[in-house]
Amino acid sequence: MKAIERKVVRCVCGCTVVEFVNFPDDDYICLEVYENAFYSKHESMLKNYLKRLWKAICGKEYSLFDIVILPENAKEISQVLAEWTEAE
Ligand SMILES: [Zn+2]
Repeated sequence: MKAIERKVVRCVCGCTVVEFVNFPDDDYICLEVYENAFYSKHESMLKNYLKRLWKAICGKEYSLFDIVILPENAKEISQVLAEWTEAE
């Protein structure tokens, strides 16, 4: 049984944490997104719900939020994902 591996990346403003989790025995990688509770209260939940509902009615995609990462973080993620997906 191989160990589960994790790589965490944070948005530069601190609003969101994305955790990449590798389950090598089950042959999949999971992305877990954590939202900082402080930032999540800044936008109106009703306003967001209505925006999402309207986009759904129109059959359009809805962007939930942006996650901004630095180039060095992108490089780290790409290296980790390359390691996790290398053929053995
Ligand atoms: Zn942010």
